[in-house]
Amino acid sequence: MQLDPGDLSELISLCRAEIDRHGDHLTVLDSAIGDGDHGANMRRGLEAVFAEREAIAALPLPAALERIGFVLVMSIGGAAGPLYGTLMMELGRGLAPDADADGFAATLERAIAAVARRGRAEPGDKTLLDVLYPVQAEVLKRSAPERIAACARSAAQSTGPMQARRGRAAFLGPRSIGYEDPGASSCALLAAAICGYFAE
Ligand code: ADP
Ligand code: MG
Ligand code: MG
Repeated sequence: MQLDPGDLSELISLCRAEIDRHGDHLTVLDSAIGDGDHGANMRRGLEAVFAEREAIAALPLPAALERIGFVLVMSIGGAAGPLYGTLMMELGRGLAPDADADGFAATLERAIAAVARRGRAEPGDKTLLDVLYPVQAEVLKRSAPERIAACARSAAQSTGPMQARRGRAAFLGPRSIGYEDPGASSCALLAAAICGYFAE
């Protein structure tokens, strides 16, 4: 992966800005089918990573990704913290320093599988995994960044008609139908921010 410290710092800034811009919408979604804190949780997480971005960006990429995961676990809280944290920590732990695009795609696949184990969730449960799996499929196909971002957005939207089987929304049973999943939505926002950078 060709990613110098300036790139990673800029990526962190873009992710933080995207979550900040749309945090109120995440809260609206989480108020409909959860406890209304997903916007605040994600804003807190990205602020914490943003505050450390220079030190993080100075680390070798695998260690930097692992550190981002650790900071997210410590700062997001809620269910999303350990899930986003697992994703980034497993990415960091699994990524060889000299990994190419294929190596990255394989590591991403294992990291997403670790998130699924952690949440005991599978595709169709109406969670952030419903965005992560389709994104992974596009990464594996080496799709263009614009295509990956569009896929993430439509995948998040596709959680609307699903009935939640994991997380707080699952307690609502059929009443969880008709609202986009907040975690799927934040995941699509982060994918859009990252893909926007690589599309430039
Ligand atoms: P909390 O529900 O603890 O308040 P958040 O509101 O920050 O946490 O995050 C909620 C999101 O976390 C959900 O929209 C869903 O995408 C994701 N989520 C919750 N539980 C699980 C799980 N067991 N597996 C996968 N994702 C989950
Ligand atoms: Mg919540
Ligand atoms: Mg909560």
